[in-house]
Amino acid sequence: MSAAARGSTCKTAPPLRARGWGGTGSRATSPRLPSPGPRLTAPVLSLQNSKTVQGLTGLRNLGNTCFMNSILQCLSNTRELRDYCLQSQYLRDLNNTSRTHTALMSEFAKLLQLLWTSPPSDAVSPSEFKTQIQRYAPRFVGYNQQDAQEFLRFLLDGLHSEVNRVLVRPRASADNLDHLPDEEKGRQMWRRYQEREDSRIGDLFVGQLKSSLTCSECGYCSTAFDPFWDLSLPIPKKGYGEVTLMDCLRLFTKEDVLDGNEKPTCCRCKARTRCTKKFSIQKFPKILVLHLKRFSEARIRTSKLTTFVNFPLKDLDLREFAAQSCNHAVYNLYAVSNHSGTTMGGHYTAYCRSPVSGEWHTFNDSRVTPMSSSHVRGSDAYLLFYELASPSSPWCPRGGEDRTTPRGAGAQAPPPGREGKAAPGMAARAVPGIGGARRGRAGTEELELRPRRRQGLAFSFVSSLWCVIKC
Ligand SMILES: [Zn+2]
Repeated sequence: MSAAARGSTCKTAPPLRARGWGGTGSRATSPRLPSPGPRLTAPVLSLQNSKTVQGLTGLRNLGNTCFMNSILQCLSNTRELRDYCLQSQYLRDLNNTSRTHTALMSEFAKLLQLLWTSPPSDAVSPSEFKTQIQRYAPRFVGYNQQDAQEFLRFLLDGLHSEVNRVLVRPRASADNLDHLPDEEKGRQMWRRYQEREDSRIGDLFVGQLKSSLTCSECGYCSTAFDPFWDLSLPIPKKGYGEVTLMDCLRLFTKEDVLDGNEKPTCCRCKARTRCTKKFSIQKFPKILVLHLKRFSEARIRTSKLTTFVNFPLKDLDLREFAAQSCNHAVYNLYAVSNHSGTTMGGHYTAYCRSPVSGEWHTFNDSRVTPMSSSHVRGSDAYLLFYELASPSSPWCPRGGEDRTTPRGAGAQAPPPGREGKAAPGMAARAVPGIGGARRGRAGTEELELRPRRRQGLAFSFVSSLWCVIKC
């Protein structure tokens, strides 16, 4: 993906500083917390003692770093992630003697602590954090335009890998699960994933996507289950006017026909056949990041869609997209990463609802200003951060994290002939866009599902599901 092509040129970027940037101004407010020794210790934060502590501190622009600042503010307002950092819970995960890399998580947590302890009138320099993210992902070295979604992917991946509770990954199982009913197969695939990837970061952001491929010749259906960190939604083309987020989600989950050169091989027909493919959500994540695919790439030139996508601030009900009956898939919006301008020159900001006050603010690099919730929706919205509504809703009286007992059995029993015997060959072709934002690391293919536009088919993205979890 051509990140540079869809990045930003900050209109508000200050003059570039030489390396070693950051925090040198007269109002530098990047006090160094104690650097981590062999064993990390928890800084003492007394949030209650300050009336000004609201997470309303801005981030300095280091030169084209608005994409980073926008994402950092969205994450800073992610309640559970904020608590994980501010209450130093992350230290428990980092304090493992066999762990070798801890700097990214440490700097990220320090930065969030600064954002929640500095006076609102100050702006914090993210330069030390930047040093670590570019060490983890060298593509972020320098001050080039970058894409906020790609940055989010890399950042979450890096944080996850440093606090992964799995220190020695077991060998990936090669056992075929195709004989299992879909629901059980999905559950087993999730279990396998968690045997290798298990962190607080993943607990928040990772869901599971189900893709179903059905042969039009013999009716055979194969399924694949893949974890996802966000969903990239295509924006429907309409002549004029607005579209809704539900329109985008319906297009994303719409049945696609794979024909012509796209034909997969059906293992039952033993031949390439016309098939239909469909996505559904098997497991809903606590935090759902929806990426509006405003940037389309056509060879060299990249264009941007400025379509106004109307999205709800409350009660985004995704139950119709669940792979099986699920009574708990209602989300509330708490942050938006916006991109204004064009592909050649643009600027990122964030709108965030404070997990403390519930008030919305605009985060524009170092400037933080109150805003009305009625202004949150706009045609600049690029990444939407939704939080799963409290399980105490009447729809899901049990709440909790029961991963083994799906509710609502019978509402969506697999149609005859669909359960079991998936075709691995077909499944493998079902998601042609698998690929790479991750660093090359064995066994991470599952995470790589990326949105791809391929020969007219919007393989928008990816990844997946289980409402089993919550319902
Ligand atoms: Zn077939």
